[in-house]
Amino acid sequence: MAVINCPSCKKKISDKAKTCNHCDLNLSELGSDKVASLNRANTINKTQRLMNYSFIAMLLFCGGFLFMFRDNIAPGTWQHNLAMVSAIIGFVMYIIIRAMLLFTKRKAS
Ligand SMILES: [Zn+2]
Repeated sequence: MAVINCPSCKKKISDKAKTCNHCDLNLSELGSDKVASLNRANTINKTQRLMNYSFIAMLLFCGGFLFMFRDNIAPGTWQHNLAMVSAIIGFVMYIIIRAMLLFTKRKAS
């Protein structure tokens, strides 16, 4: 028995279930091939979205990092602090998104 995502509401359900217990979608009518292909499409969409997020996180990190080392920004000012916070958030976001991507890909294969 495997856990799949409902093609309609995207919640986790058993692949043996006849109907989704969240939205009452009739899965036996859809057929397992259809459900499998929908799940694959969902995974690709999710991966694509995560890639976009990781790109934003990377920009945040690089932007903050570069701004922090600009000549006219002295340490201790709010601009410097903002740049540092942005770099840290970007870095943490990037790591989390990368881990999520790994997890999504491993689950899909
Ligand atoms: Zn559902």
